[in-house]
Amino acid sequence: MPDPVLGVSEKILPAYRGRFAPSPTGPLHLGSVVAALASFLDARAAGGTWLVRMEDLDPPREVPGAASDILHTLENLHLFWDETVVYQSRRSDAYAEALDKLAQQNLLYPCHCSRLQLAGQIVYPGTCRKLAMHSSQGAAIRCEVWPQLLAFTDRLQGHYQQQLETDVGDFVLLRKDGWFAYQLAVVVDDGWQAVTDVVRGCDLLDSTPRQIFLQQRLGLPQPRYAHIPVIINQQGQKLGKQQFARPVDAQAASQVLWRALDHLLQTPDPRLQQEHPSIILEWAVQHWQPDMLQGHGEITEHP
Ligand code: GLU
Repeated sequence: MPDPVLGVSEKILPAYRGRFAPSPTGPLHLGSVVAALASFLDARAAGGTWLVRMEDLDPPREVPGAASDILHTLENLHLFWDETVVYQSRRSDAYAEALDKLAQQNLLYPCHCSRLQLAGQIVYPGTCRKLAMHSSQGAAIRCEVWPQLLAFTDRLQGHYQQQLETDVGDFVLLRKDGWFAYQLAVVVDDGWQAVTDVVRGCDLLDSTPRQIFLQQRLGLPQPRYAHIPVIINQQGQKLGKQQFARPVDAQAASQVLWRALDHLLQTPDPRLQQEHPSIILEWAVQHWQPDMLQGHGEITEHP
């Protein structure tokens, strides 16, 4: 019998599960702390579970020691996760299984095009589309898309849509160097970890339709999405390793949390900076107002 007070939907809704999914390409900088904190606060304010997943699927870009450095920094910031950290480098079987499922739907083909051949092309022209999967030795594997509008409503950025074939084109799921692509791994793991809410930087907004496309093909539920602004420096560049963004000082946890909250437009009282990280986080969970970020794609770093 449906509960007359709660209604049916509230009873069957899965409990909130959120995640922070850093790539271990360097220490956390302000931009990545902002993403970690936003997903943490959103999960805690909903009484949900918060996970950390290490997206270590790109060895050429990884920095030795960065994964443990990131985890230590999160601990210093009192951003404690709830379940064992998942390392994508140990999940190859699951990604291979997903690839197999897509192959059975005749969606995949090997692509032998070189970087040089594709230079300057934003949308893959479909050169290898006719190739059969048995010639995939040493090739990348692409997923075929077709003229289809993929739209979703982001909690912060509102309506977003892409016409996959003309905006993105057939995309890579297995790289030539043998590593699984981010788009596949993220979908498989969000599904496997039963993630209900993805809170991450706006730089991934344009990846989301591809991820929804894969969720549909793999029969996985679609999480809710909230894309928070990326932090840019005074020159307008996104903070990241490429711009040599300064790592946050994990020893100054209270100041780092306060700055991250300030950049998340949560207007923290300056006096909070003197408090212990756990007090700051308690305040931040109680006062979490994601709507302050509505429509903001970028926020410029300031002291
Ligand atoms: N690993 C990705 C990054 O560090 C984030 C992936 C995601 O949140 O979906 O940019």
